[in-house]
Amino acid sequence: MPSPARSSAPAEVLNYIDHAWRASSASQHLDVVNPATGELLGRTPLSPGLEGAAAAEAAARALPEWRRTPPGERVQYLFKLKALLEDDLEELARLITMECGKTLDEARGEMRRAIENVEFACGMPILMQGYNSEDIARGFDETMIRQPVGVCAAICPFNFPGMIPFWFMPYALACGNTYVVKPSERVPLTMQRIIQLIEQTDLPRGVVNLVNGAAETVDAILDHPAIRAVSFVGSTPVARHVYRRSAENGKRAQCQGGAKNPIVVMPDADREMTTKITADSAFGCAGQRCAAASVAITVAEARDWFPEMICDAAASRVTGYGLDDGVQMGPVISPQSKARIEEWIGLGAAEGAGIPVDGRNPSIPGYERGTFVRPTILVDVPAGSQVASTEIFGPVLGVMHVATLEAALELVNRGPHGNMACIFTRSGAAARKFRYEAEAGDIGINVGIAAPMAFFPFSGWKESFFGDLHGQGWDAVEFFTQKKVVIERWPKEWSRKF
Ligand code: NAD
Repeated sequence: MPSPARSSAPAEVLNYIDHAWRASSASQHLDVVNPATGELLGRTPLSPGLEGAAAAEAAARALPEWRRTPPGERVQYLFKLKALLEDDLEELARLITMECGKTLDEARGEMRRAIENVEFACGMPILMQGYNSEDIARGFDETMIRQPVGVCAAICPFNFPGMIPFWFMPYALACGNTYVVKPSERVPLTMQRIIQLIEQTDLPRGVVNLVNGAAETVDAILDHPAIRAVSFVGSTPVARHVYRRSAENGKRAQCQGGAKNPIVVMPDADREMTTKITADSAFGCAGQRCAAASVAITVAEARDWFPEMICDAAASRVTGYGLDDGVQMGPVISPQSKARIEEWIGLGAAEGAGIPVDGRNPSIPGYERGTFVRPTILVDVPAGSQVASTEIFGPVLGVMHVATLEAALELVNRGPHGNMACIFTRSGAAARKFRYEAEAGDIGINVGIAAPMAFFPFSGWKESFFGDLHGQGWDAVEFFTQKKVVIERWPKEWSRKF
């Protein structure tokens, strides 16, 4: 059983298939590196397709017995898991910081959101009830029953290794499905530990399986006939691929993609609050959040104060190793990400933006091997430029300016993504107009990270989402169950007298 958080030696990353930890036969591995220190934490096997298929088959064997287990019994394992996650929260948070780079507080917050999903899924005995009508015609009754879909799988991104599998897995299990999880190959260690906790719940053999890997492993999952539903979170091009391939293979799919989230700053907005919340949104998790603000649009006189205040907030943000006290922002995930983000900052300047706060190539004493980019502000970003509409996924906030709310909404709705859009204002009328007209699935009003609670769907529109039913909330119940409708009659003349 691996114990990566406690050992200084690189961890062996294993698959967990059919209730057993197994070394992969992979010929290729990816180094898992602490992005702040450069320390090698482990090596992810890029499992061959056959191992993805083995995970699907183990889950398929476990399905008949698990779906017959009453929902009230199924959620007992989730109650146990919640307690284990609570007890292990600090260790899990440290592990997330080590492999993913975010600060310890951010990692704790991530695990809280994971646990929240387990709590909500514990209500499944009532949530998955169907409905019925007596006498749809004289003596005929009709009933809708929800049954599990079958074997389901999650394919996860690097930026929330602890939370994102929980947007799906607890609901799937509580609904009577069995499961395969494929974490991001860049951050596999958190899920190793979570599966160890799941093992401690005594969940029956094969109900949850873990397979590590990259594109080949994913495609094996997408092609396997036993897998009936796929949940994906990651970049838009891969979301589109997963959605298309799942659909071609007759599977349900919900695929969350990339984002470029605008924040509109009205002239009447509370200055301190707006600046603080925007900075937290843009630079929290080093901007590697699908709900990070990446463009701020000032309206009319908001230009007189917002750019200067946000530049001060960006320049004063403490960047360093997320395990160190007082650090407000960690590194980005990899040297490749750092190079890409810094290239985009340069491209923004080439397209006409100014760089009053430039976070490229910072020096972080003691962490010279870390992949850091400090908070960066691009001002006067031209409408229609590449940098205005492309996801950078780093601590970079572009600032644009318009004269009216109508013009701001035009900019908000022009982009290809539709994950989140926020407005800061004291005006109810402006807020309502924004809520009504902004083309995004998650809206913040005087809120900078409009990430829905577990009991609401994590929405997303346009290029940020492919599918019909989102993660979390009632959508999760819909996604992880299939409806069966029964119409019956029991003629009176058949009744015996007892
Ligand atoms: P990614 O698309 O590179 O990888 C996501 C998953 O897809 C990984 O498990 C990876 O192994 C797999 N994958 C990668 N290439 C593949 C291919 N060609 N074929 C099949 N599978 C493949 O994403 P990432 O860099 O890990 O995560 C960052 C992205 O995720 C950002 O775009 C971010 O906006 C997005 N994201 C979106 C949300 C949301 O809710 N919409 C939440 C978190 C992250």
